Amino acid sequence: MTKHDAGIKPTGRNPRYDILFEPVQIGPVRTKNRFYQVPHCNGMGHAYPSSMAAMRGMKAEGGWGVVCTEQVEIHHTSELTPVIEGRLWDDRDIPVMAKMCDQIHEHGALAGIEPCYDGLATPNRYSREIPMGPSARPVSYLEPVQGRAMDKADIRNVRRWYVDAAKRAQKAGFDIVYVYAGHDLNILSHFLSRRWNNRGDEYGGSLENRVRLLREVLSDTKDAVGDTCGIALRFGVDELMGAEGLSHQGEGRDVVEMLAEYPDLWDVNVSDWDNDSMTSRFAQSGFQDSYVSFVKKVTSKPVLGVGRYTSPDAMVSLLRTGALDLIGAARPSIADPFLPNKVEEGRIEDIRECIGCNICVSADFHMVPLRCTQNPTMGEEWRKGWHPEKIAKAHADESVLVVGGGPSGLEAARALGQRGYAVTLAEAGTVLGGRVAREGALPGLGEWRRVIDYRQYQISQMANVHTYLESALSAPDLLEFGADHIVIASGAKWTSDGVGRENYAPIPMEDGAHVMTPDDIMDGKSAKGPVVIFDDDHYYMGGVIAELLRDQGLDVTIVTPAADVSHWTHNTLEQGRIQSKLMKMGVKIVPLHNVAAVKVDLVTLECGYTEAEHHIACATFIPVTMRQPVDTLYNEAELLLAGKDDAPTLTRIGDCFGPGTIAAAVYAGHRYARALGEEITDDVPFRRELPHLATE
Ligand code: ADP
Ligand code: SF4
Repeated sequence: MTKHDAGIKPTGRNPRYDILFEPVQIGPVRTKNRFYQVPHCNGMGHAYPSSMAAMRGMKAEGGWGVVCTEQVEIHHTSELTPVIEGRLWDDRDIPVMAKMCDQIHEHGALAGIEPCYDGLATPNRYSREIPMGPSARPVSYLEPVQGRAMDKADIRNVRRWYVDAAKRAQKAGFDIVYVYAGHDLNILSHFLSRRWNNRGDEYGGSLENRVRLLREVLSDTKDAVGDTCGIALRFGVDELMGAEGLSHQGEGRDVVEMLAEYPDLWDVNVSDWDNDSMTSRFAQSGFQDSYVSFVKKVTSKPVLGVGRYTSPDAMVSLLRTGALDLIGAARPSIADPFLPNKVEEGRIEDIRECIGCNICVSADFHMVPLRCTQNPTMGEEWRKGWHPEKIAKAHADESVLVVGGGPSGLEAARALGQRGYAVTLAEAGTVLGGRVAREGALPGLGEWRRVIDYRQYQISQMANVHTYLESALSAPDLLEFGADHIVIASGAKWTSDGVGRENYAPIPMEDGAHVMTPDDIMDGKSAKGPVVIFDDDHYYMGGVIAELLRDQGLDVTIVTPAADVSHWTHNTLEQGRIQSKLMKMGVKIVPLHNVAAVKVDLVTLECGYTEAEHHIACATFIPVTMRQPVDTLYNEAELLLAGKDDAPTLTRIGDCFGPGTIAAAVYAGHRYARALGEEITDDVPFRRELPHLATE
């Protein structure tokens, strides 16, 4: 139990945060505070509408003054299938949106919607309509689909579809209607851009012409629904590509000056999505400030910006210095839907701060409900009934021994403690955190330690959770302890034999070859150059080890069977930055190759297509291919417990059950804590949203 569950009153809001709770007028509507959840994708949208609505409602319950949709398709001629976004193609889509609005309004927040015509940003896989844009171009997806140039009738149609969508949004109950011209993901951005737009008519050429469609859609939307809805313009003021794109010192600024008083609210950021949602590996909180700070000087309308703000003090400073009027957040609101309420209640230290890993983004790419490393309840609000702050009381007056203080053990101990169990957390090491403590020391991953910080603090406030460091437990220790339940979260270790996706058998290695694992490197053991890293894992580990060793001055080569390094990080919007950084540091990259053999002073590489072999010098070989669960303790305990009467339950969770992401480990710990005392059946363990069969 936390001090709050125990009935100790939180101290209440610190007056220095009062400014965060002031209302802001946005056209005809007024927010209750300055916490604003900007539009963000969530992998639920029109396919899992109840899940989507409940997730948005949860943010409103947590105190966000405005809660917005993801981008919402406005017409079947521009749709993103199989990516799941919102949809307002016709009146039949209104009830889904109305459901979301109702759940937001229930908690006194405003609901915002981001209608979008994607234009050349989508191939229209479902509708099979030919995409269109300012000029005839291939669509931005690498697909054999080319968009056509819009004629005047098309432009009139698109304007009308924006108006139709705005009216439907108004009917659904939205308070704020966006005009979206950001991220290079929609027709309004494309018309603005010299890269996409080479028209010779009044919609192309000069900036005055290229901004015309945006200005028209803004005016149309205002005329259509501006009587009851605030009209927000979401605009990427800088594309971080210098003169080739919009920039805050060039055409980006010019657009803001031209349209300064048109919208009721400026929602400004940097474009495209890779730039807007940079991970903590590449950008700190507040990284957009210098790009957007000019906007307030150009307009009298309220301005909102983003930058992964999690600290209320940083938020206050942005307001006090006149940089922003509203604090925009996508990821901080995902990691902690109750951030505003925690500030309101004087519980700053209870904020679950976003770590900037972009696992949330990967869920959208994979078209599955949103998930989050820090917040295991994200996306589970409706289908599992999980609340980020509330949890059922313990099913009985029982004790639980948690073995291992990594992310899964820590989250299990925290959530079990919150339920009221008597919890003992035993950790072999000298610190809590397991892999997060180790990985958090690698280049660029320091913010990941917030996974530990949040949980360690919460546990420290619970009288019913006791933590013991330097307590490596054996199987007999477990039994002797006498807990009612034992949960083993002993983690996993990187292997050294090269077995993984590409190699089903160990890579032949000559006696005397110097082979190290990522764990050896994290333990501080030294590598000798030249180093060859074989990355068959494809997430961050191979890349960060390369960065670390190159920083130490070693000659480093990464070999990977994929076409590029850290391939999976395309899903976290990081791949381009990782590869560019490594190449600029002088790390050599050999894509599309396997490692066929390791000798004392060289490795043999094999081309993935021709099987042609060549050798490169190697004094230290580091396979990053897979991890082996540390499950001896579990296996031994299972044997000892077999057949015993009154034996405690024994469960393994996290990486010692199935090595995966930190997000998966946290989720596993949380799920264990929720499920304790519940009967396990064969039933689907979550509610489903089934399609309705057509009646004809
Ligand atoms: P996960 O990601 O599943 O939480 P980690 O590898 O991050 O796994 O953490 C596992 C933790 O378990 C490590 O901190 C490790 O020191 C600890 N551990 C492993 N075996 C034992 C044991 N026998 N007794 C106590 N702690 C253990
Ligand atoms: Fe932040 Fe990572 Fe959660 Fe996304 S998944 S909200 S980046 S902690």
